[in-house]
Amino acid sequence: MSDYEVVIGLEVHAELSTKTKIFCSCPTEFGGEPNTHCCPVCMALPGALPVLNEKVVEYAIKAGLAMNCKIARKSKNDRKNYFYPDLPKSYQISQFDMPLCNKGEVKIETENGTKTVGITRIHIEEDAGKLNHDEFGGGSLVDLNRAGVPLIEIVSEPDMRSAEEAEIYLRKIKSILEYIEVSDCKMQEGSLRADVNVSIRKKGETKYGTRTEMKNMNSFRSIVRAIEYEAKRQINILERGEKVEQETLRWDDVSGKTFSMRDKEDAQDYRYFPEPDLALIELSDEYIETVRKTLPEMPESRKARYIKDFGLPEYDANILTSSKYLSDFFEEAEKICKNAKAASNWLMSDIMGILNEKEMEESEIPFKAEQLGELIKLIDKGTISTAIAKKVLIEMFEKPQSPNEIIQQKGWIQISDEGAIKEVVKKVLEANPQSIIDYKAGKDRALGFLVGQAMKETKGKANPQMLNKMFLEELV
Ligand code: ADP
Ligand code: ZN
Ligand code: MG
Repeated sequence: MSDYEVVIGLEVHAELSTKTKIFCSCPTEFGGEPNTHCCPVCMALPGALPVLNEKVVEYAIKAGLAMNCKIARKSKNDRKNYFYPDLPKSYQISQFDMPLCNKGEVKIETENGTKTVGITRIHIEEDAGKLNHDEFGGGSLVDLNRAGVPLIEIVSEPDMRSAEEAEIYLRKIKSILEYIEVSDCKMQEGSLRADVNVSIRKKGETKYGTRTEMKNMNSFRSIVRAIEYEAKRQINILERGEKVEQETLRWDDVSGKTFSMRDKEDAQDYRYFPEPDLALIELSDEYIETVRKTLPEMPESRKARYIKDFGLPEYDANILTSSKYLSDFFEEAEKICKNAKAASNWLMSDIMGILNEKEMEESEIPFKAEQLGELIKLIDKGTISTAIAKKVLIEMFEKPQSPNEIIQQKGWIQISDEGAIKEVVKKVLEANPQSIIDYKAGKDRALGFLVGQAMKETKGKANPQMLNKMFLEELV
């Protein structure tokens, strides 16, 4: 394995979150009863004509600018011809030789430092419909709700050298698209999916090996597994003295293997030609500048701000800005509690921990950022201890309630009443005479034990600072 190097290039498809489709005014909304979001254009009825949605061009330019591409002043739509039942026109309107964006780059943070991945091109195209198999006694039914939903295809250079790098790159693309708000990037709904191209070569070799392509992958985990499997499979082929065939493969998550879909012999000839029903897309410099001005603050700038204004460590700032969702969540929580480090800690350790455990995405956090802010405020005011706050957080994941409501209901308010705490301290001291002797003999650990006992006694509700102080007073 170590004699070889894996080479990966990704073609990422992202559905744009415009309100209407790319060539008609049907809604792009996900789901809905089959065939309720379509019109003669979506259904390719004779005589129906496409009209390009200007928002699609704007969103694609935004993506191009965010990925440092050159925006073409003239670009063109083409017909990509192929037959499939979910494509009623029998061609997809895409862009062939004059795409909207060219020659960009994206920086990724890898184990070995920052790396630049080249973006070959970004073009606009329409999505196809969907086939629903076997739902009604073995037949397949066509749903055209997705037909004509706008897509951008982001084609990378074959610059990635491991499954991890491919994952980091894809996460970066997702993060950029989320920051500029052109796609919801919901992978489970197919809004973001990638064709993964893999080849291998001997280390030091300058020519690329023959690639295989796995289409339409929409989970990070499958992509990593598929690349690792495919690299091994190709290495075995070369080690046997055979040749890798250029082919399209299908990754099967259950068996953890790739299967051949079509080889080079029956590779599709798409017979591209210019779409005669649409004019060239011609853009002025002014227009591109107007779009550039709508770009929001990007992660790099937020990161710098977190370090400078909030005094956060670079490590925190990196993680928090890795996704717009997380970053926005952090900022809103901070606004409420004015304790950036606490907000960062809660997000990065406890909340991330629960998300991992429940296999949930950040965007699925069931409570509002303000509520995290309130939780931190309650700790800072001494109303609850950190230990109780951790229990409140678990409740907040169970059902969306404000932390205040939860502690009221559960009776989790911290005991900060001097009299009450003194009583507990006395009781614990009476029950543990040995600890008093130990402490006086210089065993500091005995104090921790006593505080622990008092916490147990009060079910974690006693104010720990007050407990400590009173034990010390009693023990002198
Ligand atoms: P197609 O649509 O036929 O797959 P594209 O040019 O649109 O062709 O996409 C090719 C993709 O494959 C790009 O992402 C590119 O980086 C990648 N690629 C090209 N050659 C190799 C190779 N030898 N190994 C790995 N990836 C490759
Ligand atoms: Zn339509
Ligand atoms: Mg391809």
